[in-house]
Amino acid sequence: MAIRTILTREDPILTKRCHPVTRFDQKLWNLLDDLKETLAAANGAGLAAPQVGILRRAVIVVDDAGEMLELVNPEILEQSGEQEGLEGCLSVPGLWGTVKRPMRVKIQAQDRHGNLFQREGEAMTARCFCHELAHLEGHLYTELTDRLYTSEELDAMMEDGGV
Ligand code: ZN
Repeated sequence: MAIRTILTREDPILTKRCHPVTRFDQKLWNLLDDLKETLAAANGAGLAAPQVGILRRAVIVVDDAGEMLELVNPEILEQSGEQEGLEGCLSVPGLWGTVKRPMRVKIQAQDRHGNLFQREGEAMTARCFCHELAHLEGHLYTELTDRLYTSEELDAMMEDGGV
């Protein structure tokens, strides 16, 4: 396992659409293991393969229970409700923006052996599913928000009584 370098938003790789995973082999397992190690080291909530320069449809999402879900070829099956909240991205370090997302999201994905499974997520997990799956289409959350805030700006707003 290895910690890989996380690309930042200036990198054109992050704007590209990712290819489906077709081989569930050691190379994929190494990628998933590295994504998990890189995510843990960065203390993030999710990480997509293109963020480490690999244009394959594989992401890691940390769920409500703190478990790291491995999602290969993930797709959104259903979504409902709405939530608005702050979102950040390991490829956009030090900045956050307010983004509208569905409150509940049901996804289907394959595990590292190719077995299909479904999973439902609410609140932060739903947000994270949407955010990570958008990376696979070459989209960043910064496209969905009017402005980005630094942590200093957010601290100042908290003191003023909320964002
Ligand atoms: Zn991201």
